[in-house]
Amino acid sequence: MSADPLPRLRAEIDARRGEMVALAQELIRIPTLNPPGLRYREICEALGARLERSGFSVELIRAEGALADSEAHPRWNLVARREGGRPGDCVHFNGHHDVVEVGHGWTLDPFGAELTGGRIYGRGACDMKGGIASAVTAAEAFAAAFPDFPGAVEISATADEESGGYGGVAWLAERGWFSPERVQHVIIPEPLNPDRICLGHRGVWWAEIETKGRIAHGSMPFLGDCAVRHMGAVLAEMEATLLPLLAARTTAMPVVPQGARAATLNVNAIHGGEPEQAEDYTGLPAPCVPDRCRITIDRRFPMEESLDEVKAEIAALMERVKARRPGFSYEIRDLFDVAPSMTDAEAPVVRAVGAAVGRVLGRAPAHVASPGTYDQKHIDRIGRLKNCIAYGPGILDLAHQPDEWVGVDDMACAALVMALAIHDLLGA
Ligand SMILES: [Zn+2]
Repeated sequence: MSADPLPRLRAEIDARRGEMVALAQELIRIPTLNPPGLRYREICEALGARLERSGFSVELIRAEGALADSEAHPRWNLVARREGGRPGDCVHFNGHHDVVEVGHGWTLDPFGAELTGGRIYGRGACDMKGGIASAVTAAEAFAAAFPDFPGAVEISATADEESGGYGGVAWLAERGWFSPERVQHVIIPEPLNPDRICLGHRGVWWAEIETKGRIAHGSMPFLGDCAVRHMGAVLAEMEATLLPLLAARTTAMPVVPQGARAATLNVNAIHGGEPEQAEDYTGLPAPCVPDRCRITIDRRFPMEESLDEVKAEIAALMERVKARRPGFSYEIRDLFDVAPSMTDAEAPVVRAVGAAVGRVLGRAPAHVASPGTYDQKHIDRIGRLKNCIAYGPGILDLAHQPDEWVGVDDMACAALVMALAIHDLLGA
């Protein structure tokens, strides 16, 4: 390979700018809404056709039997691979092809993919069809500039990241697609701005806590036991003791925004007493002492904490409340958990992308971590591949918002960084 790949890669990417935009638009125009998981096969076929034309061998893989997979809404994934001329490492780009609901407040067609003022608008533009188009362009430009490259380049477009990734990366990882023998470097082009490298994410534990009481007539509450009052005591204990403790428990992980650089707890939902009636119900509620009350908690934790500690802390809190309230009983049910993931700042993929950002943008990238999880969890925990980052074009704050967009200059810039990183990782 030549001494300085930058000018050649830049020329190849400049020549593909129109195609890159057209690919992002084509992907945005397929409304792969999740839930329920619409048109997954169609988007895999569209991207597969494009990648076959540029020399990739393409496999379409249905995550049969995965969570949410059904005949009505099959979970399709694409894995495309382009072999180089000699043996070597494999650099893999993974993008999720699903998008979240449109929501209100749009001024443009959410699936029109309108290009105006150097921006492409639409649901999924930044999260993350723009990133997929950038990665495809990077791989194509690299293969065109260095056709005899060693190793392989892979691109996957996977289902269901927005709902946990179980019909996508998790399913593929369980079947060896991300094993370290097959894939050595993974870049996930989520929208993080072209000057930031995301090393990982915090962990999460969702649980349901139920307080129990005894139903009675609302005019004689002393004959029952109010589960909502018990829950009030639980929430008061959280406010008084747990939340201040979590806020003070800061992490060395470079989580952005700054507010997430500590342990956090949200109460996602609360339900107690008579269920809410339909909106067209015109009657009054009935008077009862509620016999149960439930909350869903969303606990996020950094590398410094373990899931066992997180659970034990809540159990201890519940026991403190119990000790003060005669007859109080409760149940804690696990709903979902993900361990934190953090790639070493000295890992090859971090160093290669960092060096490429330095060359393209003239400044060192910021290393960040995400407050919420993304598919890196499955690549790390199931695939056992630690050399994985998120890096891609687009502004994270625009994800899931109305009038979501991705900048074409950002896409081209990220594509150049990714192409340079491939060149570096596969070894000149
Ligand atoms: Zn995303």
